[in-house]
Amino acid sequence: MPLLLLDLDNTLLDRDGPFRAWGERFLDSIGAPPTDIDWLLSVDADGLTDRWDVADAIRDRYGLRIPSIDLVEELHDGVVGFTRLDPLVACALRIADDAGWVPVVVTNGTSRQQDAKIRRTGLDRYVADWVISEEAGVSKPNPRIFALAAQRARMPLRGAWVIGDSPEADIGGATAVGLPSVWLHRGRRWSDTRFAPTRTVDGLIAAVAAVLAG
Ligand SMILES: [Mg+2]
Repeated sequence: MPLLLLDLDNTLLDRDGPFRAWGERFLDSIGAPPTDIDWLLSVDADGLTDRWDVADAIRDRYGLRIPSIDLVEELHDGVVGFTRLDPLVACALRIADDAGWVPVVVTNGTSRQQDAKIRRTGLDRYVADWVISEEAGVSKPNPRIFALAAQRARMPLRGAWVIGDSPEADIGGATAVGLPSVWLHRGRRWSDTRFAPTRTVDGLIAAVAAVLAG
């Protein structure tokens, strides 16, 4: 029974769509031009920017008097509220499970937001467990977070596969720990010369199929 280590944002759950949907509603609520969504997306950087920095950037740009803490909460809850589990992703996880794989989520981010996304979308019913960098005290690509996931599932790390969309965090992490990986390209070309994914696919369903095929 091998482990299947899965990234969360833009791998198991779409993050682009929910962030954009929240952002458009938020900009409208403060009377900002709709075209500012491109600025907001670049500040967010796929969620990699610290939420407090995103909140400060928004406050500065629009001269808002909203306290940062309220804006950070709005950033958390707003995006979670727009996040949905694709039924086909749920189906792919079921198939992997039936084939003897044990799916465990390994994600960077804050416990509060990632935990809420996993539970409120119902993804928790399709994975054995999840490890979030904030509570783990270590982030991808550090190999220790993958070791922690194996420990949590009480399974060996050997034989596991890693699936994710981040070249550095997911594929770099898999390489560092010595595991094969599947990269979700999301329309990008692979450019890192230090390491490369074992397989490259266009989505989670194809990624699971690639792992099952070996
Ligand atoms: Mg990701």
